[in-house]
Amino acid sequence: MTSRQTELIPETTTGDDEPDGMAHIVTKDEQMRGYVGGQPIRALCGKVWVPTRDYQGLPVCQACVDERDRRIAGMKRMN
Ligand SMILES: [Zn+2]
Repeated sequence: MTSRQTELIPETTTGDDEPDGMAHIVTKDEQMRGYVGGQPIRALCGKVWVPTRDYQGLPVCQACVDERDRRIAGMKRMN
């Protein structure tokens, strides 16, 4: 598959920011920081939040999909 370096992570804000109920795409590094370190992570689209639950069933952020496709296209060009 093409998404070896990225993962789908739920956007789950708790508090002032209004959650949009979307699953965003983050890099593996960000995923580890969020789930292991409990730190806010940044999605490909620029969204920053702390992941806390499963993304199953959530719609995927289109901006993240576009950005991932752009990165994959860039990687293909270099190969
Ligand atoms: Zn996104």
